[in-house]
Amino acid sequence: MDHFPIFLAVQGRRIIVSGGGEAALAKLRLLLKTTARITVFASEPEPGVAQLAAQGRITLIARALEPGDAICAALFYAANDDDAEDARVARLARADGALVNWVDNLENSAFITPAIVDRDPVVVAIGTEGAAPVLARAIKADLEARLPQTLGLAARVGKGFRKAAEALPMGRKRRDFWFEYYFKIAPQIIDKNGEDGLKIALPGLLARHLAARAAKGRVDLVGAGPGDPELLTLRARSLLDRADVVIHDRLVAPAILELARREAILIDAGKKGFGPAMAQDEICALMVQHAATGAHVLRLKGGDPSVFGRLDEEIEALEAAGLDWSVVPGVTAASAAAAQIGQSLTKRDRNSALRVLTGHDMQGFAEQDWRGLARPGTVAAIYMGLRGARFIQGRLMMHGADPDTPVSAVENAARPEARVIATTLGRLALDLDDAAPTGPVVLLYGLAPRAAEAALPRLQDAPKEEFA
Ligand code: SAH
Repeated sequence: MDHFPIFLAVQGRRIIVSGGGEAALAKLRLLLKTTARITVFASEPEPGVAQLAAQGRITLIARALEPGDAICAALFYAANDDDAEDARVARLARADGALVNWVDNLENSAFITPAIVDRDPVVVAIGTEGAAPVLARAIKADLEARLPQTLGLAARVGKGFRKAAEALPMGRKRRDFWFEYYFKIAPQIIDKNGEDGLKIALPGLLARHLAARAAKGRVDLVGAGPGDPELLTLRARSLLDRADVVIHDRLVAPAILELARREAILIDAGKKGFGPAMAQDEICALMVQHAATGAHVLRLKGGDPSVFGRLDEEIEALEAAGLDWSVVPGVTAASAAAAQIGQSLTKRDRNSALRVLTGHDMQGFAEQDWRGLARPGTVAAIYMGLRGARFIQGRLMMHGADPDTPVSAVENAARPEARVIATTLGRLALDLDDAAPTGPVVLLYGLAPRAAEAALPRLQDAPKEEFA
């Protein structure tokens, strides 16, 4: 981000525009939305500019800018439609200490003017750092269509009621009140009874919220998917928007945590100082403890919470504490990995069953139905299989599995840094040692990347783009 967006206080401050033509007029249309005092310097102003002066909306000084004219200006626009003149006035204004925008000259501007969606006091500013004005306009049009015209009015009336609403305790209760106001009450009432109706309705809404019983805490056990924020479910996204506390695993990607409400408390349950991961009963206690205070807790787990996620222990703890809970599914690593290599997890005439296994459990390397797994055509998604790869390989071969059975090790599935290590059972441990993955890996036993299938059996270190 080369340009940091801010909202500048301009009430009563001076904004100067040098120029009286088309470029100046375009900027004036925007600037006139503010409560700043606007002065235009133009020796030959267009009728549109002269008219604004006659209406008293701007101060027009009918000459070119001179040294000292821009002293104390908050902002300065060089908008003369003339490069030489713009360069001259920009230099003068800079010398006077003003923040200078040279219209259509990003390089020589100290700030740029965004595309604006105006629902004053709600204002959306859209910037692309000059890279894609078309995109900025499209986003603006989209927002214009989506944000009701009444939004500004609702915000203005709401602002006048903020003090009164402080009667509600801060946090959840107050948020619920405002949520109902903006998204249910205001749009309905403004349509029917206008601003006055809205003002009359607010005290009633507040009384109802004050009388409501203290919110009961709850815990949602939510799948965050494999790491790409676009693979979150809409429900997970909306819960992230609302939760007071987010307790997440180490596997949950930072890009997803970014989506949590700014005020939410984020707790990393995958780490404990520099020590080992937080113990399961500690995680259960944390969830219960926060929900008991009335907080809305999000227990965010990588992938799907029902796949190797110790979901049952957490649900049991919540039940024991008498708390409400729900489970929100997510895209599990096996699905993401299969998508990454362009294969399906089940296929007619190949495998009608899919085995989902873990390479190790709390007791160590996990024993499996090796004989069944060794049968030709078997497909298994092996989670946490990295450490136990040699063990898995040994057991399978001992039970007669074909060493040429394809195995795709998919690291960081569905993330930008995804990598596919296409190998065979016989070379599995060796190739994994060579590749030395550092991200989470799921092994798709019995599946080769679609693109590499034809060339099997031989090792292919598949280039990322092919499968990305
Ligand atoms: N509940 C999770 C699994 C948790 S167990 C899910 O449904 O995906 C942790 C294991 O999941 C990791 O050891 C790895 O095998 C796998 N895993 C999770 N995310 C992954 C990803 N983005 N790419 C590859 N494997 C992943």
